[in-house]
Amino acid sequence: MEPIIEIENFSAYYGDKVAVKNVTMKIFKNQITAIIGPSGCGKTTLLRSINRMNDHIRFQVEGKIYFKGQDIYDPKLDVTEYRKKVGMVFQKPTPFPMSIYDNVAFGPRIHGTKSKHVLDRIVEESLKKAALWDEVKSELNKPGTKLSGGQQQRLCIARALAVEPEVILLDEPTSALDPIATQRIEKLLEELSENYTIVIVTHNIGQAIRIADYIAFMYRGELVEYGPTREIVERPKSKLTEEYLTGKIG
Ligand code: ADP
Ligand code: MG
Repeated sequence: MEPIIEIENFSAYYGDKVAVKNVTMKIFKNQITAIIGPSGCGKTTLLRSINRMNDHIRFQVEGKIYFKGQDIYDPKLDVTEYRKKVGMVFQKPTPFPMSIYDNVAFGPRIHGTKSKHVLDRIVEESLKKAALWDEVKSELNKPGTKLSGGQQQRLCIARALAVEPEVILLDEPTSALDPIATQRIEKLLEELSENYTIVIVTHNIGQAIRIADYIAFMYRGELVEYGPTREIVERPKSKLTEEYLTGKIG
C-alpha cells in the first residue's frame, strides 16, 4: 500500500493549548480514511493542518506532514499550488454566491484557464464525477445556493474536483444532510476513491464503517488507534476505541 500523506509526530497548538498531540500516521493512496472521535478531540484541526488551513495567528505546529515526500510546512511550499492537489470540503455546504457553472469553473479560472471551451468541458466532467450533472445540466446558470443541501454539497465536491486534486479532505460533509442525501454522498465517495484519496472526518461511526478502508480514532488530541476498518471494528486494541465504538463514551 502506497502512502500519499505521511504525518510524523505532528502536534498542533492554539496558543499554549494543545489540540493535536504527537500524531503519526500514513494515509494511503486511493483509500478512504475516516477520522473519528468525540467532539473537540482534534479531528478538524488535524484535517485543516493537512490542508495548511491554519492561518490562525496563535496556531503553531510541531512535527511533520509530508505530501508525496514533500514537507508541507516548508516555508518555500507554494500553498496555492499545494491546495490544488489537496482539496477541502466543509461541514456546511459552502457554494459561492454565483451560478452552478461559475462555482465549478472558479478554481480552474484562478489557475489561469480562460478558454470557454476548456471550462465547459471541466464543468461538465466535474459535475459528472460529483454525480450532479444530470440534475443540473439544464440550469447551469442557476445560483448554486438555490440547490438542495445535498446538491450543494455535491457542487462543493465538483468544485474541489475541477482543479484535478489527488486528495480530497472532507470535514463532516453529511452532518447537515438528510439520510437520502447522506447516502448519495457516501456512494459518491466510494466511487471517487477509485481515482482519489479521500480523508473524511465524521462523528457518524456507521458512516465510517460503511465507507472507510481505514479508521483513525482520536481522543483528546491523540491518535488512539489506526488501522483497517475491519480490524478497528472487530478487534480494537484499545479499550477506549471499543468504548467509543459501542457508544460508552461520546
Ligand atoms: P473536533 O473537530 O474533533 O471537534 P477541533 O479540532 O475542532 O476538534 O478542536 C480541538 C481542540 O482545539 C478543542 O479543544 C477546541 O476547543 C480547540 N480549538 C479548535 N479551534 C480553535 C480555535 N480557532 N482557537 C482556539 N481553540 C480551538
Ligand atoms: Mg470538527
